[in-house]
Amino acid sequence: MAIAGIAGGAGCTNTGGPQRESHGTGALPERGEFIIRGAIILSLDAAVGDFASGDLHVRNGAIVAVAKAIDAPRASVIDAKGMICMPGFVETHWHLWTSLLRPMLRTDDAQRGYFPVTNALGRHYTPRDHYCSVRLGLAEGISAGATTVHNWSHNIASPDHADAELRAMRDMGMRGRFSYGPVQGWPNDRPMDLEGLAKIQKQWMPNDGTLTLGMCSRNVGDGTNALRGNISVDIARREWGGARALGLPITMHTSGPSPITLLDKAGLLGPDVQLVHPLLTTAEERRILRERGVSYSTSPVGESQRPASAGEIQLAELLEAGVKVSMSVDLTGTYNVDFFQCMRFLYHLHRHRVGRRVPLTAKRLVQLATLDGAVDLGIARHTGSLTPGKRADIILVRTGDINMAPMGDPYEALVNLAQPRNVDTVIADGRILRRGGRFTALDHAAVVKDATMALAELSARAKRG
Ligand SMILES: [Zn+2]
Repeated sequence: MAIAGIAGGAGCTNTGGPQRESHGTGALPERGEFIIRGAIILSLDAAVGDFASGDLHVRNGAIVAVAKAIDAPRASVIDAKGMICMPGFVETHWHLWTSLLRPMLRTDDAQRGYFPVTNALGRHYTPRDHYCSVRLGLAEGISAGATTVHNWSHNIASPDHADAELRAMRDMGMRGRFSYGPVQGWPNDRPMDLEGLAKIQKQWMPNDGTLTLGMCSRNVGDGTNALRGNISVDIARREWGGARALGLPITMHTSGPSPITLLDKAGLLGPDVQLVHPLLTTAEERRILRERGVSYSTSPVGESQRPASAGEIQLAELLEAGVKVSMSVDLTGTYNVDFFQCMRFLYHLHRHRVGRRVPLTAKRLVQLATLDGAVDLGIARHTGSLTPGKRADIILVRTGDINMAPMGDPYEALVNLAQPRNVDTVIADGRILRRGGRFTALDHAAVVKDATMALAELSARAKRG
């Protein structure tokens, strides 16, 4: 069955099997030459600085120049007067395969919580379900101003399932890392399918530069989350060693008892490791993380839904210790994609926990949601700031909307006032994916319809057993 969605439908009919056609971007908007004119520019680059009113020139997907006024006669013009021009949000850990499960989930009924539902339905996913789910999540991500995501895919039953997720990422035109993880229920005493990972690497890497690959590890040590798997240090050594032999980075959740000292004693920590959920670290562990160059991704909204016993978001402690931190969505089953909300949550929780003892500015939070994410994913030379030579991953945020106007400091407004509906324009790798708050090429209704149908069929398959 064809999956409609992007105008022209390119790449949407091959719902299983390895990638056969070119890795081009099909019917995505062309990368052109344009000037964003008269914007409030927040570059997140100290050498470039900010402008109360400035221009930004883009050609063939790259930022050519940022200045008070730019003359480029051949470039088309985007009038950005009254809009904030800033880097697109860089998301660093998101289980996109669960995006279509919203109707199945409830926050007030433990039986229908995220883990029981994803565990019951996950093993029935076809490659097509993965494709529809990832595309649905990314459509919301783009509409909320994300231009980079880290697709944390810990339910990959075969390379065909991985291929479907990568096709969805490519078809949506965003920048991202796809991290390949073992299917749920994979035996804890066996390393994941490293041959499948190598096969996907051969098929997809390198590409046009927008997509990279990584490996999702199950939790290490005596963890409490049996549903997601817990492996011994010996299995981690083999699994992580396999990923490193391919030159791939590693990501792992640290929900429950902390594995940091265990991993360090085994010599497994390094700058190619990203941990997720900084809730229960000790001062000694944070020292280890800084020394080893490990980064930590916090998912403020999801982490705030956990019981107090799960720990508190340790942003202040991580910043004080000099550990690399980034921001993530995690999932969208029980809340939506809203980077402004994520920044606000972090800000409020920080003030609630530590007050002004550890200074945290609105600008630092915007950096956390953009440049710091690019640092975490190892792609800061390509994205995360409005720097000439970097790729054009840019958003425009309206400041005249009723929840923003009249605006004072733009960083303050982004953190405390803005909402996804204020995101007017989204540009990823020089392609204008949204303009005037609408998709330029994507058929949003078809994306929702395909995801809804996929979920109905998935539920029916699960009932049959
Ligand atoms: Zn997660």
